[in-house]
Amino acid sequence: MTNLKSHPSPAREDRSSNRIKKGAARSRRRPPRIVEKILDVRIPNRHGRLTFGAYRFQMPDGRTQEIYLIYVNVHASVVNVRINSPCFTGDIFGNNRCDCNWQLLETLRIIKDRRNGLVIYPLEHRGRSLGIVNELRYFGLLAEGKTPRDAANALGQNRDHRDFSACVAVLKDLGIGAVRIITNNPHKTAFLRRSGIRIIGRIPIVIPQDKHEDVRAANVARGHQFRGPK
Ligand SMILES: [Zn+2]
Repeated sequence: MTNLKSHPSPAREDRSSNRIKKGAARSRRRPPRIVEKILDVRIPNRHGRLTFGAYRFQMPDGRTQEIYLIYVNVHASVVNVRINSPCFTGDIFGNNRCDCNWQLLETLRIIKDRRNGLVIYPLEHRGRSLGIVNELRYFGLLAEGKTPRDAANALGQNRDHRDFSACVAVLKDLGIGAVRIITNNPHKTAFLRRSGIRIIGRIPIVIPQDKHEDVRAANVARGHQFRGPK
């Protein structure tokens, strides 16, 4: 919350501009508000033992955001957690030019084997938060012969546009304070840590060397780590 007056007098505008900026920053840091949550929905599926859920949030800037959950068990003292950005062509159709489907299936295998784990699936993150149209543009550029790195740069994907604050709000609402994060991306780990989630360990998703070599190279350039404690 801010104490700012909505119509500062012109004489006070300069003096108060810093306070306005600080107020805006505080407003951006306000946690998303939960509008609706649905948990514990059992849907028979080919993977077995998976439960589904959803949250709808009102974001501090007024937008709504939906986050879906796929989980095995979220009641352990340390929960295996993956924040999985949706990929329309990869997750649904098994796109061979990206490793998203591979990473999602590997995550499901891990959480089923360990009987502990949660996949947070933020719909807002489609196309790395640039939308499905841009996801299609990206793969169009790959088809034209661009490298993953050049295609991402051409679409402004060299910067990560994703906002993980609603994902953190899901963890806090579920009472999950300590996680073993399933990721290769150190930025996700750092964001959760900054948000007060204890990172007890990291489980990397190790893509077989013979698969997705170009995708792997692009992710290495983004700082992703493919090795680490299991
Ligand atoms: Zn993908």
